[in-house]
Order: sequence, then structure tokens, then C-alpha cells
Amino acid sequence: MKYISTRGQAPTLNFEEVLLTGLASDGGLYVPETLPQFSPADIAEMAGMNYAQLAQKIITPFVEDCIPGPDLQAILEETYAEFRHAAVAPMVQIASNQWVLELFHGPTLAFKDFALQLLGRLLDYVLERKHQKVVIMGATSGDTGSAAIEGCKRCNNIDIFILHPHGRVSDVQRKQMTTVVGDNIHNLAVQGNFDDCQAMVKASFNDRSFLPADRSLVAVNSINWARIMAQIVYYFYAAVALGAPARKIAFSVPTGNFGDIFAGYLARQMGLPVERLIIATNSNDVLHRVLTTGTYARQTLEHTLSPSMDISVSSNFERLLFDLYGRDGAAINDLMARFADGDISFNDQAMSEVKELFSSYRVDDAQTCAQMAATWDSCEYMLDPHSAIGVKAALNCDLPASVPVVTLATAHPAKFPAAVKTAGLDDEPVLPHHLRDLFDRPERSEVLPNELAAVQAFMAENINA
Ligand SMILES: *Cc1c(COP(=O)(O)O)cnc(C)c1O
Repeated sequence: MKYISTRGQAPTLNFEEVLLTGLASDGGLYVPETLPQFSPADIAEMAGMNYAQLAQKIITPFVEDCIPGPDLQAILEETYAEFRHAAVAPMVQIASNQWVLELFHGPTLAFKDFALQLLGRLLDYVLERKHQKVVIMGATSGDTGSAAIEGCKRCNNIDIFILHPHGRVSDVQRKQMTTVVGDNIHNLAVQGNFDDCQAMVKASFNDRSFLPADRSLVAVNSINWARIMAQIVYYFYAAVALGAPARKIAFSVPTGNFGDIFAGYLARQMGLPVERLIIATNSNDVLHRVLTTGTYARQTLEHTLSPSMDISVSSNFERLLFDLYGRDGAAINDLMARFADGDISFNDQAMSEVKELFSSYRVDDAQTCAQMAATWDSCEYMLDPHSAIGVKAALNCDLPASVPVVTLATAHPAKFPAAVKTAGLDDEPVLPHHLRDLFDRPERSEVLPNELAAVQAFMAENINA
């Protein structure tokens, strides 16, 4: 499989190269040149496969020229054995034809484990073969950092540096990063906010001269294609469990950076019968406004009860735009150049295509709490605030009652105990057994001033030989 940039001017890469790359050199995002196709007969054969087997079926065409089948199989079996549920991604019914796909049984209790557990292992496999070592640098406001650290903790060929805003992530989220033991894990508590952290990561990718000459810098945010690829699998898994290919399924996806829901779009383009993809946003509703007004406009960030969806622009939306504009890299380049200067509007053709498949719904904090309470009252099922936004959107979509709607439950409620309390549920969420002693584990992190030079100097000193 070859990968091309959404802006049409960067070199074409193979899977191994795309895995080790963040943004394309022209500022675009990498996407597959073509998508593998699965016929109804292929999809029917997926019934009864376990999660790792299905992952192999879906992922093989994307990686086969770089990773031999038996090696991929071993990596996938190891990856999904980390999940603490026999089904890996079990489903729970919460209302008539309404389902929740629990994507929080991985080590850090959020769906990001599905991709980052795999990404760490794929990187280590490729680096081992190339006798190469890399540095991962990322900024986090919570879930990404811990999932990336857990995914890379056993990787001998990776030093991982995760910047988080000092004092501004939740206790559970911080502990999930700072209690992981490993010489290659470096938690940097920066005396600034999330945007400061992200700006330092960006600056470091633009000028890597602070690194030793033999180390390259790898991105683990959802710009990395391998993360999207891993997320395609659970759309097939859920749909097949509910009767695909004979039945069409709708998905409601709590959305921030548009990575997770873009994977659902790809599943459909690969042949999965998807009736509708529902973009569920919190009050940071840039995507909801795109769907309702056709205008893509930045907004000031609001802090909500669903912090992992607090974004002002959705970077992966560019990957969808590339398709909507007929895979015309020059057109995307032009659009994004104009977006750098201000708001942009999409053409009617693109908007009518979007609306055929996607709908959107905005859920504020009060509605989020109300949905958490309502689902608790109706079936004693505890939703985390992100998943509650998905459920609220699912219940409000105008689909025929016969279409099953699957909401992606992106986090475990015990990650967000304050929100559960605010919603007024009778019970407190309980951390799963493997994290019960989280608050007793020793923490390791370095508090650093909000200065790029200090961060880069710390990194240069602490990279393992
Ligand atoms: C990251 C995250 C999201 C948003 O996912 P995107 O791929 O950015 O759309 C939603 N919920 C939780 C719990 C997350 O951690």
C-alpha cells in the first residue's frame, strides 16, 4: 500500500515510512492511495472471528508489503491480549435498538488504547529491524499521553517525552502517566497550559537540531495514520455482531479531532454497510457548525466536562475534505492556506456529499449530565461524559427505528469521577481492579518552566544511549 498526502506535494510513502512520519512535508496528512474493498461475502465471513483475527483481516492490506502475515498476527494477538475483557470491545444494549460499544477495557480506560497499544508495538518491530532508535514527543491534556506511555513502555528503541500542563490534568489522568515505570518514559509537567505544551511540540518538529543526529522525532497524535487504521477494526466488529452485511448500522461518535469518526467513514468506504455516522460534539462544536452552516470557523476554546473533546479545530477533518474535493491535493492546499487566514466555506457539492452520510448534534454540559442521569435511571448503566454525548446524539437522530445505532463509549466513567458526581448519579464509579491501587503508586515527573529551551535541554540530556 502506498500513502499520499492530502496536499499533493509530499513524497509517496510506504507503510513503514508513514508509521515513522507525522505531518507530511507539504503540511498535509497521509492517507492510503486506495482502500481495500470487502464484499458482503467477505463481511459475512467475519462473523465469529475474535478481535485479533478480525484486526488481521482488516489491517493486512494496509501493511502487507512491510510486515509479513505471521509477524502481524503475533503483534495483534499481543496487543489485544492487553484488554481486560474477553470480547475486547463488548457491546451493551441500553434502549430499543440503541447499543454502546465499550472501548475502554484497555490499560488506560479510553479508546485510544486500541490504536496506541498497537502503534507502540508496530514502531518497536520496525525499529528493531532497522536498528534505529527514535524519540516520541507529544503534548496531552489527558487521555493521549497515558495511552501513548502505556503503548511504548516496553519499547527499547523509543524514548517517549509527554508534556502535560502542570496542575491542569485530572488526578487520575496524571497518575496514569506518572506512575508508569520505565527508563524510557519521561513525563514533563510544564508550567503553562495545554496550548503552550502543544506549541513546544510543534516547534520541536519544525527544528529538530536539539536531538542527537541518530534520532528522529515521531508523532503519536491522531495525525499518525496507524492510529486511524487501528480504529477501523471495531466498526466492522460491532456491525458484524449486529447483523452486517445483511443489516445497515449507524454509529454515533463523540468527536474531537475527527480521528475516530474518520475511521468509521473509512470502514464504510471499504464496504461496511453504514447507514449514518453521527458527529457528537460538546459545546466546542466546530464540526456541528460545518454541517449546519457549511462554514469552517475557529472558535475560542471552552472547558467542558468532556475535556478530551475540547478542541477548536479538528485536524483530521482535512482527510475527509480530501475525498470530498475529489482527492485534489491542490484544492486542499488552497483551502487550507485560506483557512490559515480566516474562516472558509465549502462548496455545495462537498456539503451535499457530507450530509448524505453524516449528521451532527451538539450537547452542552447540562445535557451531558442529564443524559448520564437518564441512562443511569433507565438501566443502571454508568456513562462517562464523552460517551453520554454520543448517546444523547444517538437518541436524537432521525433514523428509522429499525436501524441499530451504536454509540462508541470512548472512556470508562472512573476516569471522570467529578463529572459523574456533578450528574448526580447514586453510585460512584470504581476503577477496574488493575488500577485500584493507582493512588498509592509512586509518581515520576519533572516540573519544567514554560520555556522551549528548557524542555529541549531536558530532552537532550535524558535520551537513553
Ligand atoms: C480522544 C477522545 C475523544 C475524541 O476522539 P477524536 O478521535 O479526537 O475525535 C473522545 N472521547 C475520549 C474519551 C477521548 O479520549
